[in-house]
Amino acid sequence: MSQTSALRVRFAPSPTGYLHVGGARTALFNYLLARQTGGTFILRIEDTDTARNVAGAEQKIMDDLRWLGLQWDEGIGVGGPHEPYFQSQRLDLYNSKIDQLLQSGHAYYAFDTPEELEAMRAQAEARKQAFKYPRPSRLPDENDARKAREEGRPVIVRFKVPDQDITVHDEVMGDVTVAASELDDFVIRKADGMPVYHLANVVDDAAMGVNLVMRGQEFLSQTPRHIALQRALGFATPRYAHLPLIMDMKGRKLSKRDGDVEVHSFRVAGYLPEALLNFIALLGWSPGGDREKMTKQEMIELFSLDRIGRTNAKFDREKLLAFNTDAAGSANEDRLAEAFDDYLAISDSPIGKANPTPETRRELLRINRGFRTFRDIDQKSGFMFVPDDAIVYEEAAVKKVLEKGGFDMLASLLPVLESHEPWTTEGLEKLLTGICESQSVGMGKVAQPIRVAVSGGTVSPAIYDTLVLLGKDRTLRRIRRALALRK
Ligand code: GLU
Repeated sequence: MSQTSALRVRFAPSPTGYLHVGGARTALFNYLLARQTGGTFILRIEDTDTARNVAGAEQKIMDDLRWLGLQWDEGIGVGGPHEPYFQSQRLDLYNSKIDQLLQSGHAYYAFDTPEELEAMRAQAEARKQAFKYPRPSRLPDENDARKAREEGRPVIVRFKVPDQDITVHDEVMGDVTVAASELDDFVIRKADGMPVYHLANVVDDAAMGVNLVMRGQEFLSQTPRHIALQRALGFATPRYAHLPLIMDMKGRKLSKRDGDVEVHSFRVAGYLPEALLNFIALLGWSPGGDREKMTKQEMIELFSLDRIGRTNAKFDREKLLAFNTDAAGSANEDRLAEAFDDYLAISDSPIGKANPTPETRRELLRINRGFRTFRDIDQKSGFMFVPDDAIVYEEAAVKKVLEKGGFDMLASLLPVLESHEPWTTEGLEKLLTGICESQSVGMGKVAQPIRVAVSGGTVSPAIYDTLVLLGKDRTLRRIRRALALRK
């Protein structure tokens, strides 16, 4: 790559499901570097492994990338000079390259059935050897392939790996050399005619002018094969940067076992994309010093490859929650309202289902200030949005609060509240503090029975705010319903 050519990077997911946080990090780092250098960020879908494809997955991936604010410049959905950006629509290109490799003697046909391959593998295993495909001394040609097709045998194309060690000059991991003896003649076109990932990936990176490949470390062991293919096809080798693995807090590979790992799950759980993005940025990279909190713009300015570490990154959920709490606390009102609307629209929030007015939604954000995620708002305020007779009274709350004087308090409060006007925060505060004073009891004794009556449990936002948002009629109905529980 010449020093002057603009950076072209890509995110190339396979459409197998929602976007994983590891994939989001790959997308983010590529995006940051493209934005920082005025380069181009490409989104390409690697869907040649048809058995693994999940219908609609690319829509989900695009949706999650957009939610995170990682808009690509070229690729599916936006087009560009190298369309199409779905590999399944580029088979002619791959076949022409496979033909080229066959003609130049860099690839050859093979006709083994899966059972035959399995038997060879088992034999190698019995000899305690790693299986390596035995390259025939005479390589099958077109005639052999025709005959095999007529006989109904599988016709596969294998790459003839060169007899030389291959070194990856990785910009994060350093030089990584794989000995020639460790490489075997891998398949580049399967019996169903589809190219394998290695071939399609390398051909597209060259065709699309990708000059830096940044991806997860799990792909590093594949890179020597990619370099061998590039050399055989006469392609330049791009720069490589493999990102450290992401582990859970116990040092195991991050997995669903210990919680959400998909971007979509965090969205549904009520996280802000800016907080998640900031957290993801720190998985293997840091801007230096103690700096952690960054906006996307700041990340674009601060990002650099040489500050990506080689050691495994740790996915600390507590830290993410703390990031989110801070981000929610410092976001401006409009931004928060917009993010809350997104949450209500895509989650199964009882609040979202009730379709409250914009004013009510803003009021919820105000009275729940200090929340960690939007889901906290559901937990603390969801009861306001269900029918009065759907409130379920928690046994513990009934025992601890209502049966310990709460019923009496509610009975005496009911007529007072019935005649109370105006139904405002100030009005209710004056009324309830007055009752506390005249009965010489603390606010808990008054507020807690009301809270249980209206919510079924013992948590809600401040009681006056709660009652105002609920409205007078619904408050009174719920108190009467709670009183009917008295034995
Ligand atoms: N399609 C690969 C994946 O599933 C991408 C590998 C690469 O980035 O080169 O993530």
